[in-house]
Amino acid sequence: MNLKTVSILKNELIEKKNSLNSLQSQTRKIDHESEAELKDVIDRSDAEEAWFNKERMSQHWKLELTRINSALNRIEAGTFGVCEDCEDEIPLKRLRVRPDAALCLNCQESNEREAGQTQKATIGFSLFH
Ligand SMILES: [Zn+2]
Repeated sequence: MNLKTVSILKNELIEKKNSLNSLQSQTRKIDHESEAELKDVIDRSDAEEAWFNKERMSQHWKLELTRINSALNRIEAGTFGVCEDCEDEIPLKRLRVRPDAALCLNCQESNEREAGQTQKATIGFSLFH
């Protein structure tokens, strides 16, 4: 993979990281403002649902941030674009869609089969597209 491609993908990763960070700080701000109101909420299930959604989103963002950070680390280490399982090169086409991919499509698919997951691991990625 040439350096220009790596630096384009690196910029994309940094942009995503920044938007995730700002999403998280926005959520924290909203939390703070609505805390007083939430104390008056009579319908507990609404409050619980709101809390659950927020938790789920922040878990998701945390996971995305971890993935992005480790992709940035791989760029620094010079191992970016190499599958962590089989050490094959991850096709550029895949990296353009998921610059934070740590596995090639084959390994990703066999991992998902082993975990019994049929759902795609791309939920929420559409936030950025
Ligand atoms: Zn692989």
